[in-house]
Amino acid sequence: MILGCIADDFTGATDLANTLTRRGMHTVQTIGIPKSEAPQADAVVVALKSRTIPAADAVAQSLAACRWLKAHGARQIFFKYCSTFDSTDQGNIGPVTDALLEELGSDFAIACPAFPENGRTIYLGHLFVGGELLSDSSMKNHPLTPMRDANLVRVLGRQSKHKVGLVPYKTVKQGAPAIAEAYSALKAQGIRHAIVDALEDRDLENIGAASSALPLITGGSGVAIGLPQNYRIARLIPQREGAAPLEKVGGPGVVLSGSCSAATLGQVERFTASHAALAIDPQELGRDPEKTIAALLAWATAQMKTGPALIYASARPEKVAAVQAEFGREKAGAMIEHAIATLASGLAAQGVRRFVIAGGETSGAVVSALKVEALEIGPQIAAGVPACLSYGSPRYALALKSGNFGGPDFFAEALEALA
Ligand code: ADP
Repeated sequence: MILGCIADDFTGATDLANTLTRRGMHTVQTIGIPKSEAPQADAVVVALKSRTIPAADAVAQSLAACRWLKAHGARQIFFKYCSTFDSTDQGNIGPVTDALLEELGSDFAIACPAFPENGRTIYLGHLFVGGELLSDSSMKNHPLTPMRDANLVRVLGRQSKHKVGLVPYKTVKQGAPAIAEAYSALKAQGIRHAIVDALEDRDLENIGAASSALPLITGGSGVAIGLPQNYRIARLIPQREGAAPLEKVGGPGVVLSGSCSAATLGQVERFTASHAALAIDPQELGRDPEKTIAALLAWATAQMKTGPALIYASARPEKVAAVQAEFGREKAGAMIEHAIATLASGLAAQGVRRFVIAGGETSGAVVSALKVEALEIGPQIAAGVPACLSYGSPRYALALKSGNFGGPDFFAEALEALA
C-alpha cells in the first residue's frame, strides 16, 4: 500500500476511490477497518461514518484507521471529507486533522475541498458551489451539517485548536514550487492548517505535486488527482489505464434515497415521472416503524417483479424542518437511515443485488446493513460516483451517490450502469 485514506463517509470514500482509480492507482475501498487481511492495492480507502458523530468518537475511529493503514505500509495519509466541507463548529474536520497530525508526528497539513469538475472551487479561502458562495447554496439547509459560513479559514479555525492559514490563488497559479514555498512560510509562522485555493484541475495537480512530502493531506477527492503522478515519478506504481468493467450481478434493481440535497430532489422528480416510486412518510415511520417498514418492503417486493423502483425519504427543506422539529435532527436522520437500511437488507434477502443509494449517511447505513466489507471500484457513472461491486458473497452492484452529485437522470443511468 502506498496511499492510506480515511474517509468520513461512504460516498465520499467511493468518490475518492473513483478518482484514484481513474488516475491509475489500483484502489480498494473498505467499510471500516478490515477484519480480515489487508487488500492488495496501491491505495486503500477506509470508509468511516464519522462525519456527524461526536468529535471524540470521530477522532478515535480515524486514529484507529490511520494506525491500521500505517501498519500495512501506507507512506502518506489522506483524510477525505466532503467537497462542501460538511461539518459543524464542534467538528469533525478540525479535531480529526489535529489528532492525525499528532499521530503522524507532523505539524502541517493542507485542507483543500475543491472539486472543480463538480463546481466546487476555492478563492481567497471562500468555498463556492457552482456560482454561489457555500453559505448561499442549498448546503445552508443541509439536515445534519448546515453550512452558513463560506470562509473556510474561519470555519476550520473554529474547529481546530491550531492556527489556520491560506495559500491564496495568486500563489497557487504560480505552480508547485511556489505552493511548496508557501507551505514552508506558513509552517514557520506556527500555522498547522492551510486552506489552499483552487479553481481548476490544473491547480489541484500542482497542489498534489507540492504535497508529495506531506505526511497528511486533507480535502475532497479533487485534491487527490495530483497524487498518483507523484507515485509514478517515484516509481512506486506503474503506468495504468483507469477502471476495468465489473462483473455483472444481474437481477432487479432498486433506488433508495435518503438524501435531501437539491440535486437528489431533482433526480427523484425525474425518476418518478417514468418509474414506480414511493415516498417514506417520516411521521408514520415515527409512530409505527415496524409496520411502516413492512409496508414499504411489501410494496418494493411487488415492484421488483416488473422493473426498478424508487423508495425515498428525500424532501424539501420545509418538510425536513417539520420532521426535525417533531423528532429532533439526529433522531429523524437515524430513524430514516434505519428504515432505508432495513428495507435494503429485506430486499437483499429476496435476491435483489443491484442498489442505487442516494445520500452519504444513507449509503453508510445501507452498506452496513448489507454487511459489505470492501468494494471493488469500477467505471465512473457520474463525476464522483463509480460503479462498485462488493467483495464476498453475495456480491452486490452498488452506486453510492453523495447528495449533490449526478445529473438529473442519474438514477436511470446508474441502474443501467449496474445492469
Ligand atoms: P446527503 O449526501 O445529501 O448529505 P445523507 O444521507 O448524508 O445525504 O444525509 C441526509 C440525512 O437526512 C439522513 O440522515 C437522512 O436520514 C435524513 N433525512 C432524509 N429524509 C428526511 C426527511 N424527510 N426529514 C428529515 N430528515 C431526513
